[in-house]
Amino acid sequence: MQIAVASGKGGTGKTTIATSLALSLASLAKVRYFDCDVEAPNGHLFLKPAFSESTPAVIRIPQIQNEKCTACGRCVDICQFHALAKVGKNILVFPQLCHGCGSCTWNCPENAITEVPNPIGTLERGLALENIEFFRGQLTISEPMPTPVIRQLKKLAHPSSGSIDILDAPPGASCSVVETLRGVDYVLLVTEPTPFGLHDLKQIIGILREMDISAGVIINRDGIGDDAVEMYCIAEKLSILLRIPFNRQIAEGISKGKTLVEIFPEYSVVFQQLLSRIQEDC
Ligand code: SF4
Ligand code: SF4
Repeated sequence: MQIAVASGKGGTGKTTIATSLALSLASLAKVRYFDCDVEAPNGHLFLKPAFSESTPAVIRIPQIQNEKCTACGRCVDICQFHALAKVGKNILVFPQLCHGCGSCTWNCPENAITEVPNPIGTLERGLALENIEFFRGQLTISEPMPTPVIRQLKKLAHPSSGSIDILDAPPGASCSVVETLRGVDYVLLVTEPTPFGLHDLKQIIGILREMDISAGVIINRDGIGDDAVEMYCIAEKLSILLRIPFNRQIAEGISKGKTLVEIFPEYSVVFQQLLSRIQEDC
């Protein structure tokens, strides 16, 4: 079973939930944790994995073989990311815009395109607290394409029968979030009861409805704002699965690298019960 933990907005406590969920479920089943927030991964600060494998994440960039190219322009027309341009009889490649989708190569009538692997990040694997198998993707600073790193991170693990996979998604509602959520069984949406929390929750709900994935809501820092998030969830028939009150002790513990279940061990049972709710909803 794959459960993604996502939030339309950064800083809502997504990793706080994901790491404590992983620790709580590790006594019930084999748990694998995927840190898909490849531009700023931080799950390792809490689950403290020892990494044993590291491989490069690569994107395959087209290279034009000028001796074969007839400058027909088909590859330029096909590229949806404007990573190719025709200048006179030459085809120029802009690697920073290329998503490595391969469409240009497949569609070249002259077989004039080869693909060159370009490293854009790293994929790491290790063992964390409570024997949690930990996977982390990291995009190299200055590289603009997080999505291929996430795709390769998910492939690295292969489907595993019987395990519970927890995917810590990037914040926001961009392509990298869509890539993380693709194929998961359920999404836990972490939000906070503020106007920003509500705005960004609405955005990610729109994505989930397009992708037809079941979801439930966790309200973190409950008590700091208003009830607009709650009213929205009622109107949209979204289950509020858990409320975590705004609490200074939690904030201080997290700032020291502690998980929620280390600060308040009673949350461990709460997260285990959460799994039952998720299984009922799936
Ligand atoms: S599709 Fe092939 S032959 Fe046509 S311009 Fe592109 S590389 Fe050249
Ligand atoms: S691989 Fe895809 S994104 Fe890159 S240049 Fe070719 S068509 Fe464009």
